[in-house]
Amino acid sequence: MLLDIDNAYVQYGTSVMAVQGASLTVREGELVSLIGQNGAGKSTLLKAVMGLVPLHSGTIRFDGSPTGGRSFSTVRNRISYVPEERGIFTKLTVGENLRLGGVARKDRKAVAEDVERELERFPVLRKYWGRGAGLLSGGEQQQLAIARALLLRPRLLLLDEPTLGLAPIIVDLIFDALVRLREEGVTILLVEQNAVRALEVSDRSYVMQAPGRVLGCGTAAELGELPAVVDYLGFVP
Ligand code: ATP
Repeated sequence: MLLDIDNAYVQYGTSVMAVQGASLTVREGELVSLIGQNGAGKSTLLKAVMGLVPLHSGTIRFDGSPTGGRSFSTVRNRISYVPEERGIFTKLTVGENLRLGGVARKDRKAVAEDVERELERFPVLRKYWGRGAGLLSGGEQQQLAIARALLLRPRLLLLDEPTLGLAPIIVDLIFDALVRLREEGVTILLVEQNAVRALEVSDRSYVMQAPGRVLGCGTAAELGELPAVVDYLGFVP
C-alpha cells in the first residue's frame, strides 16, 4: 500500500471536526478519486496527507512510514500536491515556475528531459514559456501547476479539484492528461466535484459526505450497488 489513511480525524481550531474517521488507501499505479459535495472534507484530507493540517487522531502512512512526524518530508518521499488555488508564482515566467518543480532534484539532465516531456504534454506551456504566469488563463495555470508537480517525478500526485471553474474543452484536456498519466504509471489521488468524470477515469473512488465521513468506496460498479451512495450522488455510477 503506498498511501494508507486509517481512521483519520482533523479539526480546525476548536470548531467542528472536518474529517471524522476517514480511511482510504491508494496502491502504487492506481488513480483513486475522492468525490462528494462542498464541505465534505476532501480538501482537508489531502492537506492532512501533506502535513498542512495536523491529525487529531488516526494515522496516515506513506509507503509504511507515518507522515505525521517532523522527520517525514513530502519532498524526499516525492509526494506532489496541486492545491485548489494552484500555487502558481504569478510574477515568475511559465518557464521559471516549471523549473521550480525540479529544484529539489540533483539529476539536472533528467530534469531538463522531464521539462521537455511536460512541454510536449501541455504544448500551451511551450507557447507561453517566457510569459509571466499571472497572465495565463485559469486552464493554462492548471496545466502549469500539474506539469510543475510532475517535475518532482512524484511517487504520489495529489490533485485538488483540477477542473474547477474551467471551460469544458479544458476539462476534457485535463481528464485526458490524467488518463495518460495513469497509463504512464503515475499514482494519483484526485479530489473532484465532477463525480461522473471522476468515476469514469478512476480505478476506485471514495465518496465523502459531510461531516468528513467516507460513505462508500470501490469501483464505479461497486459503488452502484451501495444504496446510500446512489442516494447521495443522485445517480447510479
Ligand atoms: P470544497 O470542495 O468546498 O473544498 P471539501 O470537501 O474539500 O469541500 P473541506 O474544504 O475539506 O471540504 O472542508 C471541510 C469542512 O472544514 C468544512 O465544513 C469547511 O468549512 C471546514 N474548513 C475547511 N478549511 C477550514 C479552515 N481553514 N478553518 C476552519 N474550517 C475549515
